[in-house]
Amino acid sequence: MLGLQRALSIIYPTQCVLCAAQVDQDGGLCGACWRETPFINGLACDACGAPLPGFEKGRAHCDDCMITPRPWEAGRAAFLYESNGRRITLALKHGDRTDLAKPAALWLQQAGRDILTEGTLLVPVPVHWSRLLRRRYNQSAEISRALSKVTGLSACQNALIRTKRTTTQNGLTVAQRQANLDGAIVANPKCYQSLEGQKVCLIDDVMTSGATLTACTAAAFEAGADQVFVMVLARVTKTL
Ligand SMILES: [Zn+2]
Ligand SMILES: [Zn+2]
Repeated sequence: MLGLQRALSIIYPTQCVLCAAQVDQDGGLCGACWRETPFINGLACDACGAPLPGFEKGRAHCDDCMITPRPWEAGRAAFLYESNGRRITLALKHGDRTDLAKPAALWLQQAGRDILTEGTLLVPVPVHWSRLLRRRYNQSAEISRALSKVTGLSACQNALIRTKRTTTQNGLTVAQRQANLDGAIVANPKCYQSLEGQKVCLIDDVMTSGATLTACTAAAFEAGADQVFVMVLARVTKTL
């Protein structure tokens, strides 16, 4: 078997998921691309995963999360929405690169190792069906499916549904974003049982203002979820 793998790796050398460079591990980044990916490793905001200056231990919060307290328990992000962090996120969202869901899941598993505890139900942030028709897949569902595979945690792909087609959130204030989403995301009536009393972890590709995740949290609580956590691949921050 090893011999076969070696032979295959000669014919199909493992490539960096961003460039064509040869790498040792499947689904990984080469050294150069890794260095250009702003992974969040140090002290981070407990609510959204944004990096914070300093090294103190304990629960700290970024300015955004102090101004807008989050309805969820805690949140983690794998990297910043910058340079390769932005490239990976956009490729997964618009570029048909669903193969990036697997490395994304491995990075999220690492970033969320303290919150992805046994019994946590993974729930992707939903997209409207009309967007599914156009793009064919929901990148957050792809990530949660892959994360379910690597962690062994259950994922409920249709636990939340988007009932309204919302216009773009770009350029709106936090209040406008929230108004735009009013009633747009609800728990799927067929999934109330799976959400009731559960520890839920919402999965999304990007967090900007947090308005979408706030609407999803409300919908999960509405369906009887016990606790809600959030995990995103990339966190957009204004300051960094
Ligand atoms: Zn590379
Ligand atoms: Zn924060």
